[in-house]
Order: sequence, then structure tokens, then C-alpha cells
Amino acid sequence: MTETRGGEIRHFDHPGAGRRRAKATPKGRGVDLEALEAVRVLLGDRPRRRDLLVEHLHLIQDRYGQLSAAHLAALADEMRLALAEVYETATFYAHFDIVKEDDAALAPLVVRVCDSITCELFGAEGLLKQLQGLADAGKLGRGRVVRAPCLGLCDQAPAVEVGHHFLHRADPPAVLDAIQRGDTRPHIPTYIDYDRYVAGGGYQLLARVRSGALTVDAILDFIEKAGLRGLGGAGFPTARKWRSVRGEPGPRLMAVNGDEGEPGTFKDRHYLDTDPHRFLEGMLIAAAVVEATDIYVYLRDEYPAAREIMARELAKLPPTLFEGAGPTIHLRRGAGAYICGEESSMLESIEGKRGLPRNRPPFPFQVGLFGRPTLINNIETLYWVRHIVETGQPPLRSYSVSGRVKNPGVKIVPPGITVRKLIDEHCGGMQDGHAFKAYLPGGASGGILPASLDELPLDFGQLEKHGCFVGSHAVVILSDHDDMKAVALNLMRFFEDESCGQCTPCRAGTEKAVQLMDRPRWDDALLQELSTVMRDASICGLGQAAANPLLSVLKHFREEVLS
Ligand code: SF4
Repeated sequence: MTETRGGEIRHFDHPGAGRRRAKATPKGRGVDLEALEAVRVLLGDRPRRRDLLVEHLHLIQDRYGQLSAAHLAALADEMRLALAEVYETATFYAHFDIVKEDDAALAPLVVRVCDSITCELFGAEGLLKQLQGLADAGKLGRGRVVRAPCLGLCDQAPAVEVGHHFLHRADPPAVLDAIQRGDTRPHIPTYIDYDRYVAGGGYQLLARVRSGALTVDAILDFIEKAGLRGLGGAGFPTARKWRSVRGEPGPRLMAVNGDEGEPGTFKDRHYLDTDPHRFLEGMLIAAAVVEATDIYVYLRDEYPAAREIMARELAKLPPTLFEGAGPTIHLRRGAGAYICGEESSMLESIEGKRGLPRNRPPFPFQVGLFGRPTLINNIETLYWVRHIVETGQPPLRSYSVSGRVKNPGVKIVPPGITVRKLIDEHCGGMQDGHAFKAYLPGGASGGILPASLDELPLDFGQLEKHGCFVGSHAVVILSDHDDMKAVALNLMRFFEDESCGQCTPCRAGTEKAVQLMDRPRWDDALLQELSTVMRDASICGLGQAAANPLLSVLKHFREEVLS
């Protein structure tokens, strides 16, 4: 956990824990005193606040490779929380491994094999079986193999994470080699650090804002004229959002959504891994506009390198940036839940709870984090702020392109580009031996379009009449080698796994849809009816959009999927 204010950074490193005998607690609940002491040592001088529960669970998980019943009970006792609250939070997140008292200890090294759509196209299922076979034969040492949803490395598929080391285009020998060499730490890429950023004129704009040389109205004007929209997927006009938050009574907060878990999306990682201060400067300018007292940066746990870079670079920010009403920055860590990319779920997670979406209204700009008016922006949205204000020009767009193209990756181009241009002019064309068949214009939830619709502008509001949307601009290219039923099933399985379970149409609907889609023959009428219920009656976007890929293939590939 890292907190920054006035240039003062608190890093909380922790030593290992000792063991002692157990006895009952004053609350009448059995707490192992050895576990309690271990938890106290791990937590050190960190506050025992409720909102830090997820952070504290990470400490235990990182130290022991699992969460034992004894440690959970000890944490509940130490934080003065009901054990049920700790359990319900811990069990919600995929990156916490709960073991019961009489369970055998888990192998501590987690080998995550991405099984999301692009990785599946590139052989993830076979790789998973091979690695599981090696694990069963005792050849992975202290490693254990688990399935994982999108790791954000779709352009390097199939992706595997060994500990926190990501393997690109992974195969069993590379996994074995990483385990044998103990190469399990994140590899930090070369990036523009604080000194380089400042040398390039960085933070001068923020200084002008903070000195009043550039007014809030002027900034809002720039942002509005440039047409900046929320680039996490929703596309809401940024200036309007900033004005709305600013219009609410203080104190106001800010939360940055760095939890891009939409399969096929990896653009935010690109910016965090290459130019973190450009994002940070945009973030601090936005915070100045809405006069946020605190900023919570929520990064997905699948991006350990980005988290390390962020902690490192936050520590370099000079105290002058925080003089007066400068905000306190809190770096928070997700724990493997796609739904926490939904803004209200993220707020719940930052508050240390399960990531259950909230009903709206009230909206987060009115009642957000800790009940305060909260500005929520995505990483890329903030990244473009400096460019817009310095140049007066609109931002470009970042398309995460993966699948059957020669050169996948983040393509930074004008908004509204067509998929045809993306493939031909920015991705080196289709892979040899592959003919363009279909594409996902907006990740798993954005639906699927046929190659015949290759001239549609990939922008907000342009694809809806075809039952699709551009969302987070994650474009997955499919070819004549790809089975559309299998693609749609993979995507529905993802939503089934990631449904938070709060509402029945989504929880039961995605499960039922998977069962129906896993049959040799699809029941068109039943799938259509189920999709309608999920879309109309689910609380949040996950359940409402989960059937989009299914409906797309029923519309555009009827013969193939209903034969
Ligand atoms: Fe949870 Fe799905 Fe309902 Fe959203 S739609 S609240 S993810 S169960």
C-alpha cells in the first residue's frame, strides 16, 4: 500500500511472521494467537480501517500464498470486523485463495493461464492441459495452475503469469524455465520516469493550473472543445462530468479506474507502462478542477509492473505539487474481479468490500466514495488532458488490436477508424493463411460484427444500430479458422465466471446460457428469450451486455451456429 501527500510517501514493507499458541478471544470466537501475531506483524503500523480490508488481505495472500481460516479470523479480530464480513470480501475476489482448517496448504506459486478469447484462439486450452499435466506429475515444483480471465496481454497471446512474471506467447518450456530460475517478479519495462518527464516540460501545465495562471473555466473549455470522452468504455463527455462533480458540495473525492478487465483491452497498461507521469499530471489537473481532497488510484492486480512503476514514481513527486489544498493520493490494488471495472463496484472495492454494483440514482458524482461526491475517470481519459490543453487539439484513440493479424498491439489513431484500415494500414494485414471473417469492436461485451461490415467507423454511437458498441476500443480480429459458436461460448463463460451474483437474470441467465450454448444444437428461440430477460432485467452493464456476442452470432452467422 502506498499513500502520498506533500511528497511524503509511506511504503509499508513487512517482515515475516512468527508462530505462537492459540486461545479464545474476548468475542467468544476462536482466534489462533500465533495467527494473530502474524497478522499484526504483517499489518505493522498500517491503520486498521475497514476500507483497507482488501489491502490487508493482499498482505496475507502475498506472504503465505493463501488465506487460512486462522489468518482470516485473526484479521477480523484485529480489524474489529465480523468474521463474516472478512470472509464475504475475501471469497469474492479471484486472487485470494481461501483454505479451510483441514485443507492441505496450496502450492504457493500461482501459474495463471489466460483463457479469454484471444488466448483461446492461440491455443490456451491446450496449453492449460499441458501445464496441468506437468503440475499433476509434480514437475512444476511449488507451482499450481489456474485458469485466469484476461491478463491484458492479448497482443502476446497465449499469455501466462508465473507469480508476477508475465510470459508472452507462452509455452510449457518457458513456464518451466521461469519456475526453475525463480523468475517470478514483474519485469519492469523501460518508461519515461519523473526526471525525463519533467525535462520534456512535464508538470508545467499543472503548475499553471495550481498558480491560477490557467483557470478552471479555461481548462473545462479546452476539454469540452476537444470532445474528450470517458475512454474506459462509457464515452461520457468528460467536461460535463467534471462540471457535475464541481457543482456538488465538498469535500469531493476522485477515483481513477485502472481496472481494465474487458477481454481484448490492454491500452491503459500501455500508458501506465510507458508514460505514467502524463497520466498522473492529467489526474492532478482533474483533481484540481473538482478540488478533490483525495485521489484513489485503483489498479487491477493483473498489472503488477504498472503498480510497481506507479508506487516508484508517486514517491518522486515533489512536495510542491501538494502545497495548499494538494490532494492525498492513495494507490489501491484490485484482486481479480472484472466487475470492479464497473465504476460503482470499484468504489465498493476501494471501501474494502465485495465489488457489487450499486443501484443508481444516486450517481457517483453525487454520492460516491465514502458517500462523497466523486469524480471517476479512466487512465487513458486522464492521459490525454495535457495534450488537449497544450495543443488545443482533440485526443487520438487507442485501439487494442489482437487476434488474427500480423502485428497486433495498441494502435493510436484518429477516432472512427474502420476495422479494414486498422488491419491493412496499422496491423500489417491478416496473418498468413487467414481470411478476415469477423471482429469484436469493443471487447467481450461489445458484440461481434461480420467482415462484410468492415467500413463502419469504430466510435461511440456508430455501432449501436448493429447491436454492438465500441466500448473500450478492444478490437479482436477473427478469421475463417475460427468457430463462431466456440467464440460466443468463450465470451458467455467469461460473463458467467465474472457475474457478481447480485441479481438473478445475470447470475442464473449467464449460467443457463452457457449450458444451452454448450449443446451441439442451439435453441434459437430459447436463447433469444433468455437474452432479452438478461438485457432488460439485470442491474448493471455486465448482465445487460452479456448476451451481445450471442445475439450477434445468431444474427450474422445464423447458418453456422444453428446448423
Ligand atoms: Fe452483478 Fe450481473 Fe447483476 Fe451486474 S448484472 S449486478 S454483475 S449479477
